[in-house]
Amino acid sequence: MTDPATTGQRPLCAGVMGWPVAHSKSPLIFAHWFAETGVAGSYLRLATRPEDFAAAFRALPKAGFRGVNVTIPHKVRALELADEASEAARAIGAANTIRFDPDGRIFADNTDGYGFIENLREGAPAWNPAAGPALVLGAGGAARAVIHALLEAGAPAIRLANRTRGKAEALAAHFGPRFGSRVEVIDWAARAAATGGAATIVNTTSLGMTGNPALEISLAEAPAPALVADIVYAPLETPLLAAARARGLATVDGLGMLLHQARPGFRAWFGADPAVTKELRRAVLEGSG
Ligand code: NAP
Repeated sequence: MTDPATTGQRPLCAGVMGWPVAHSKSPLIFAHWFAETGVAGSYLRLATRPEDFAAAFRALPKAGFRGVNVTIPHKVRALELADEASEAARAIGAANTIRFDPDGRIFADNTDGYGFIENLREGAPAWNPAAGPALVLGAGGAARAVIHALLEAGAPAIRLANRTRGKAEALAAHFGPRFGSRVEVIDWAARAAATGGAATIVNTTSLGMTGNPALEISLAEAPAPALVADIVYAPLETPLLAAARARGLATVDGLGMLLHQARPGFRAWFGADPAVTKELRRAVLEGSG
C-alpha cells in the first residue's frame, strides 16, 4: 500500500456518514467497484452522532478523505456546511455526496434524483416522463429528490399524495418558485383515481418494505403505458410492483436507484466510472458486509 506520508498523495479514501449506518449497503457497492476497476481504495462506515456531525465532517479532509456519502439524519446539515453545492442539492435542500477538494473547499451534491432517473431509463427504456403526469406517493426525504428529478426530466405535472397532507403541501410550496404549479397536491384517499392518465406512478413511502404494511392502491385506472416504480428495495418485488406486473404494466424496482446514486461519488473521488451491472446487483443483494 502506498503511504501518503512518503508519496505526498491523498489516500483513496471515502465513506458514508450516518446515524445509524450499520445497515448501509454503500460499502458493498464500493467494494465491488474497487475490485472491478482496480482502484486500491477504501470506503468506511462512519457512525456519527448528530451532535458530532459538523466537527467530524470538517475533520475528514484532514484525515485524507476525498469525500463522503451522507445519509439519514445528516443530509440537510451536510448541505449547510458545504462551501458550494450543485443545482440539484440546492433545489432538493439536502446533500448525499460530498467532495473534499485539495484546496479545502467542500462541494455538496445530491445524486438521489439522478440515481432514480437512471434506474428508470435503464429498467424501462421506452419510458417517456414527458408523456403525462406523474403520481408520486409520499412526501418524505426521498420524495423531494424523486419529484425534482421527474420535473427536471420533463414530467408536465406531479400529482402528490401523502398520508399527512400538510407535508405534501410544504413540498409543493418548496418547488413552487422554480416549477410553478406543476406539483399538485391530492388527497391520500384520492390516490387510486389519480393513476388515471399517469405516465409514471412512484411509491416513495416506506409502505411495502419488509416489516411494513403494503401500499394499498388500485391500479385499475392506470393506463397501459404507465410505468410503476417503487423506491423500496427490500423486498425487490413489493406488493405494488407485483400488482402492477399482474396488470401488465411496466415496473422498475428500487435497487437500481441505490446503485446508480453511488456512481457520481466514485467518479468524483477516484476518477473511474464504474458500471451498474447484474453482478453488482447480486453482490449487494447477497452481501452481508
Ligand atoms: P421518510 O422521510 O421517513 O418518509 C416516509 C414516507 O412514508 C412519508 O411520506 C410517510 O408519510 C410515508 N408513510 C410511512 N408510513 C406510512 C403509512 N403507514 N401510511 C402511509 N404513508 C406512510 O423516509 P424516506 O427517506 O423518504 O424513505 C422512504 C422509503 O424510500 C424508505 O423505504 C427508504 O428505504 C426508501 N428509499 C430508497 C432509496 C433507494 O435508493 N432506492 C433511497 C431513499 C429512500 P407521512 O408524511 O404521513 O408520515
